[in-house]
Amino acid sequence: MSPSPDLLILGGGVHGASLAYHLSVRGVKAAVIEKRHLAAGATGRSSGLVRMHYDLETEARLAWESFQWFRDWNERVGPDPCGFTRTGFLQLVEREHVGALKANTAMLQRVGVPAMLVTADDVKRLAPAFVTDDFDLAAYEPESGYADPVSTAAALMNAARRRGAVLVQDCAVTGIRVRAGKVTGVDTTQGVFSAPIVVNAAGAWARRICEMAGVEVPIGTWRHDVMFVARPPELRLPHPTVIDFPNSMYFRPEGGLTLVGLEDGNPLDEDPDGDSDHARAGFVERAVDRLCKRVPLMERGGLHSAHSGYDGITPDQHPAIGPIGPEGFWLDCGFSGTGFKISPAVGLCLAEWILDGAPKTVDISAFTPTRFAQGIRLVSEHPYESIWR
Ligand SMILES: Cc1cc2nc3c(=O)[nH]c(=O)nc-3n(C[C@H](O)[C@H](O)[C@H](O)COP(=O)(O)OP(=O)(O)OC[C@H]3O[C@@H](n4cnc5c(N)ncnc54)[C@H](O)[C@@H]3O)c2cc1C
Repeated sequence: MSPSPDLLILGGGVHGASLAYHLSVRGVKAAVIEKRHLAAGATGRSSGLVRMHYDLETEARLAWESFQWFRDWNERVGPDPCGFTRTGFLQLVEREHVGALKANTAMLQRVGVPAMLVTADDVKRLAPAFVTDDFDLAAYEPESGYADPVSTAAALMNAARRRGAVLVQDCAVTGIRVRAGKVTGVDTTQGVFSAPIVVNAAGAWARRICEMAGVEVPIGTWRHDVMFVARPPELRLPHPTVIDFPNSMYFRPEGGLTLVGLEDGNPLDEDPDGDSDHARAGFVERAVDRLCKRVPLMERGGLHSAHSGYDGITPDQHPAIGPIGPEGFWLDCGFSGTGFKISPAVGLCLAEWILDGAPKTVDISAFTPTRFAQGIRLVSEHPYESIWR
């Protein structure tokens, strides 16, 4: 590898790759240090939803900026695909949250997002197999869909490498070197790497990395199970991507399969090195039950597979991004189960923050990790409720 990278990124998930890419465009050469392999963490398990419906405007702006990267991927990033597939996206909420739905859709429209309110009858026309009698209005994003997180991370990392970045795999960070209040590099299982800036992009392992730098940040872990169901022949055609709050679930098509995740019952603060190859006992039954409530014909489907993954989660379930602790130490983590879809823009804005002194494309400074010690919790103007109950 290059003997002296300008900057070290700890963690080879989609956020480490995105930051390396955007820095490389600015002529800054990063070394991404990954203890296993690219996308070995949450990124490799992510459901990949790409939608813009958020209730916090900063996240909506990041999702909208990122969407344009996913949509125009090859012109912007290069030849490797991100697997963006347009399906349309429906946000379903309980009747008592229709006021928030209207306000948030208006906010999205102000930001520039192609989003609109549709009636239950409209949803029935879009997805005739769906039960639509438990809501009156939904938000619809005709352009949204999903992308392939592993391909996305690989494409960003490859584009960064073409500009001089390096990816060091099978290399676990074991310590952060600090001299006179400034970071100077890291200790790893492959020796010492030196650089004046170190970015912690270690996902569910971010707190451990913080502790190595003597930094206390309340980033816990969040486990999330998902399953794939083979749709029955009657449902062969793809359906929209859906977040279904009344059933505390989301689902999206993947060819002839439907991927399902649940919004509730995701365990917190487990060891992120736990078994993520299998979903927990009882998950599939709960998920099938919820899916069949919305799409009864799914009863004739068959289970394809189920697995799990771990992400880092913060007390307000919003990211922790920015400098903290010793000079040169930055966080790019705490994505709380929704970080994939915003990854292209987060890397861009964090590169601006590091190189120019402030984020420009979207002002992400409110995500400062110092907010927790100040007792600040980010809340949106029109929240639905805590998503990952
Ligand atoms: C099952 C699941 C489904 C999800 N679905 C969606 C979705 O539909 N849409 C969405 O937007 N988001 C989704 N998310 C969230 C999203 O996937 C994550 O927020 C995002 O992938 C986080 O990326 P990251 O780069 O921060 O972390 P990760 O991808 O976890 O990368 C961190 C990396 O750090 C490495 N690492 C850890 N410790 C060390 C060390 N000591 N030294 C070196 N390397 C180390 C790990 O091996 C890992 O590869 C989902 C998450 C999960 C788990």
